[in-house]
Amino acid sequence: MQGCIFCSIASGLIPATIVYQDEDVVAFRDIHPVAPFHVLVIPRVHLASLAESTEADAALLGRLMLAARRVAHDAGFQARGYRTIVNTGADAGQSVHHLHVHVLAGKTLSWP
Ligand code: AMP
Repeated sequence: MQGCIFCSIASGLIPATIVYQDEDVVAFRDIHPVAPFHVLVIPRVHLASLAESTEADAALLGRLMLAARRVAHDAGFQARGYRTIVNTGADAGQSVHHLHVHVLAGKTLSWP
């Protein structure tokens, strides 16, 4: 989608440190990491948030989570653990309106 920063990253129009990509998803380093390992996993297609997803997106949502698992395990966090987060809408603090899964690891994370 024109004007969407994550669509621009997925299409290579603007740079990012990409750690994994396939035909459905792209995973890249967050520009303002809040943990030693902070990667965002996005679908190549524009979907504004989880709230806009439907049954038709079931396979894509599965691909996102499996890619999140993959980047965490490839980085060596399978044993220590990692956190996956999807911020949806204003109260959750979603700031980029292209669905993304945060993958955080590398320290003991506080909650919430
Ligand atoms: P959220 O607040 O859940 O919408 O998360 C959006 C995330 O995108 C934030 O953690 C930002 O640091 C990150 N972000 C924004 N622009 C970029 C960019 N150009 N490259 C990498 N990460 C970005």
